[in-house]
Amino acid sequence: MSKKISPVEAVQNEIKLACEKLGLDNSYYELLKEPERVLVVQVPVRMDDGTIRTFTGYRAQHCTIMGPAKGGFRFHPDVTLDEVKGLAMWMTFKCAVVGIPYGGGKGGVCCNPAELSKTELERLTRSYLRAISPIIGPEKDIPAPDVNTNAQIMAWFMDEFSKIKGYNVPGVVTGKPISLGGSYGRVQATGYGVTVAVKKVCEVMKMDISKTNIAIQGFGNVGSYTALYCSKNGAKIVAVGEWDKDIGTYALYNEQGLDIEKLFDYKAKNGTILNFPEAKRISLDEFWALDDVDILIPAALENAIDENNAPNIKAKIIVEAANGPITPGADKILAEKGITVFPDILCNAGGVTASYFEWVQNLMNFYWTVEEVNSKLENILIKAFDDVYGMHKEANVSLRQAAYLVAIKRLADNMKLRGWV
Ligand code: GLU
Repeated sequence: MSKKISPVEAVQNEIKLACEKLGLDNSYYELLKEPERVLVVQVPVRMDDGTIRTFTGYRAQHCTIMGPAKGGFRFHPDVTLDEVKGLAMWMTFKCAVVGIPYGGGKGGVCCNPAELSKTELERLTRSYLRAISPIIGPEKDIPAPDVNTNAQIMAWFMDEFSKIKGYNVPGVVTGKPISLGGSYGRVQATGYGVTVAVKKVCEVMKMDISKTNIAIQGFGNVGSYTALYCSKNGAKIVAVGEWDKDIGTYALYNEQGLDIEKLFDYKAKNGTILNFPEAKRISLDEFWALDDVDILIPAALENAIDENNAPNIKAKIIVEAANGPITPGADKILAEKGITVFPDILCNAGGVTASYFEWVQNLMNFYWTVEEVNSKLENILIKAFDDVYGMHKEANVSLRQAAYLVAIKRLADNMKLRGWV
């Protein structure tokens, strides 16, 4: 077993490297190495049987020099303070790479949502909101969906905050249902953005997307829309990795390419893709080692690719759709193997960028069409890709380091201008 690296340590290493490369003195590292604020809360919930259970919740805010903190919150049994802090730090750099006026935020409640009824989930969401309400708001910190949180949860969240304030505050959270001030395109935005990145990857790597085989780990919100848009652009999705509560991890494989629209329908009907008939079921270990894959897209949780499975990967390109899916140890192994990694803070920034559009629309009370959202999204992501790719060539560093250089340079310039340093 390889040592499990803490997300905070992983991102601190990146910040340190970038500061050195940019010739920034240690003051910048000092300001960036930890979140500005972290709140740990008790989240009491009345369960359906009448008893009270308490859960631990968190919200972290990292470097708000560019604007209010922004980032999702997750409900998951593995949520820890360290994870939330690391994820908040990633959000700062993600927002800076795409140039949207936010700092980094992230939150979570340590719980297993699969064991909660819908009414318990609603009470948990409202209780979590009440606990963190002093530090959030449209000008302070704007949460959004993340792992196991969706538009319905955002609706309860916005409703509870609005009740505290006494008036509707749609701009307190993004990823809401459309009728409550959500934005067209937000649900699909992360996968849509990953697809924009995949198209750019094909351009710079001189590949034809219609001759490209892709494997995606995860068929949640990000993985499923990535699969859909990549296949609409002509790519063949040969494998999808998933997780099932009874059998654990597994993958579906079809060398002719999975029919993604059918897979969507199957999941909508059955709640799972486990027994999807038009595919062979393989193990996740076999999935990582598939030899007919050009682009591998981890779209689930952190640390999916580690020192154990990295040596077996045959794909030549990895596009990170999850946050932090590759451990630093695995990153080294992949580099030695000549595998090119396009980093998370660039490739999955479509979600937070569409969240930015939702917040802007809420503040203006004026709403855009899906075409407007998608074309603005595409422009921002293409520019970010070009900035990072340009830095990669200019500074002769990995694409991950290039993304941090672009982001930290922008943050450092503002620190200087504002007199923080
Ligand atoms: N949870 C998403 C992320 O990690 C979206 C955050 C947001 O929309 O604010 O980027």
